[in-house]
Amino acid sequence: MCSPPNPPPTTALTCVLRCFPCEPTWAGSPFLHRPPTPPMVRMTRSKTFQAYLPSCHRTYSCIHCRAHLANHDELISKSFQGSQGRAYLFNSVVNVGCGPAEERVLLTGLHAVADIYCENCKTTLGWKYEHAFESSQKYKEGKFIIELAHMIKDNGWD
Ligand SMILES: [Zn+2]
Repeated sequence: MCSPPNPPPTTALTCVLRCFPCEPTWAGSPFLHRPPTPPMVRMTRSKTFQAYLPSCHRTYSCIHCRAHLANHDELISKSFQGSQGRAYLFNSVVNVGCGPAEERVLLTGLHAVADIYCENCKTTLGWKYEHAFESSQKYKEGKFIIELAHMIKDNGWD
């Protein structure tokens, strides 16, 4: 079979050449006058005092005012003891303020800890480990303890 005749090899080049004269025209066209860039983020609601965790996650909230405190994914351990019973260790928390650090002897030795409180209702919730003096306790540094007595489970718990 005969292959169809190739198109003239100059076609593509011709096209390019044909387009060149157009350039000055479209360079000055309204195409280049872009519409004003919209703001990156439009705030539909004014920011409130609270940070909100994703509603699809299981979260812990302040039992007194329901401000979100922590995502369940941030829970490290449930086996801590607070002054009012069980307490949970969290990797990170929200809506929580921090008092001055001070050294305290806890069940697991000497630590520098700071009281943490709900920024919304100001209730003391637990403490933050600022510094652990024993190497076995170093993993707690920068982590947060919230007593179970101050937390309520929100969103998606069975
Ligand atoms: Zn609160």
